Amino acid sequence: MMAEKTLLNIKNLHKSFGDNLVLDGISFSLDPEEIKVIIGPSGTGKSTVLNCINRLVMPDDGEIWLEDTEVISCEDINSIRQNIGYVFQGFGLFHHLTAIKNIMIGLRKVKNMPDKAAREKALSELERVGLTEVADSYPAQLSGGQKQRVAIARALAMEPQLMLFDEPTSALDPELIGEVLTVMKDLAEEGMTMLVVTHEMGFARSVSDEIIFMEKGNIVEKAHPEKMFDSPELERTREFLFKLD
Ligand code: ADP
Ligand code: MG
Repeated sequence: MMAEKTLLNIKNLHKSFGDNLVLDGISFSLDPEEIKVIIGPSGTGKSTVLNCINRLVMPDDGEIWLEDTEVISCEDINSIRQNIGYVFQGFGLFHHLTAIKNIMIGLRKVKNMPDKAAREKALSELERVGLTEVADSYPAQLSGGQKQRVAIARALAMEPQLMLFDEPTSALDPELIGEVLTVMKDLAEEGMTMLVVTHEMGFARSVSDEIIFMEKGNIVEKAHPEKMFDSPELERTREFLFKLD
């Protein structure tokens, strides 16, 4: 049998902002259906890695392959962004649009879907995150957890090959974190390929295939979650994980 093809392959990524070297040679890959979690202190370059993958940030050097397409040099950036769902701390919903319209807008404008088909697709994505009852509510009427689930539904509606999550629960009140993590766990079980920056170690441990520990623009340790939590190679990793509790 042929080996499964790598979905995302990042090679030797470098990025500086001015004289601030933020990514100092980051390499890792994701196979289809793999879930990897990136952890590490703040200011370490975790968000910058995700931002490079969907080209919100242009790397200085390195390669990012999404299957057979090299992202950094690709001219059709919209096709890249359609294939990569991005969910971040601040939700990014349009405040003047209802939940369902927030999901429909990309389907209408980017995928050129007719109104009725877009509405049906948006409703089915809302159902997937358990939110059909708030379809006609505005973001201001939703809890933080509901807003983030709408943001996830909106990303999923584009049928991405890969989902990026950047601290998706960091802005939420503690009692709302679980509902978002549950949606993410369901997605993982459905076979979505996911790259997740999070401080939720329970999620990292139970859902991920590998944990990537980043510090100062480098990957300092990569391991299966059990190994990472029970017997990390580096004292530095142990200190970081210990401090989180
Ligand atoms: P993390 O997500 O691990 O907290 P970031 O990737 O957000 O880290 O940031 C890493 C470093 O890059 C920080 O020093 C931050 O100030 C800097 N940085 C991030 N984005 C920009 C930007 N657009 N312009 C200038 N500096 C940035
Ligand atoms: Mg960040």
